[in-house]
Amino acid sequence: MTPERYTDFVRAGNFTKDDRDSKFLAGLGLAGEAGEVADIIKKHLLHGAHLDRDALCKELGDVMWYLQHAIEVFGFTDAEVKETNVRKLCDRYPEGYGSPSKWLEPPKPQAPAADPYYHPDPEIHKARIEDALNRNI
Ligand SMILES: [Mg+2]
Repeated sequence: MTPERYTDFVRAGNFTKDDRDSKFLAGLGLAGEAGEVADIIKKHLLHGAHLDRDALCKELGDVMWYLQHAIEVFGFTDAEVKETNVRKLCDRYPEGYGSPSKWLEPPKPQAPAADPYYHPDPEIHKARIEDALNRNI
């Protein structure tokens, strides 16, 4: 499932037509579902209950639904929220994360050291491998 398709799925399930109610639904729903996640973890770690992974997965999905709904109704994009989070945490924990650009810029392609046929052009790389295979190297 693509992120875009999941966004469509969440939009289809938002039955509140009033903007204020949609925002209530986002905030209260997110808090409620996060509480359900916390309860499963609490019962497992503090009460020795078996970790019910199926239930945890379902509740994490509920959190995800309300999070996506909150992003939508408050007018953000997924990328905006993610990038803001990266910048915030890099500012707070620079010793752990380093610079935000480390995470926000696409990684530079690196030649694999163990690949003697490597070439940055994928077509040439593929041709080199095929040539080696044909020569039975
Ligand atoms: Mg739930």
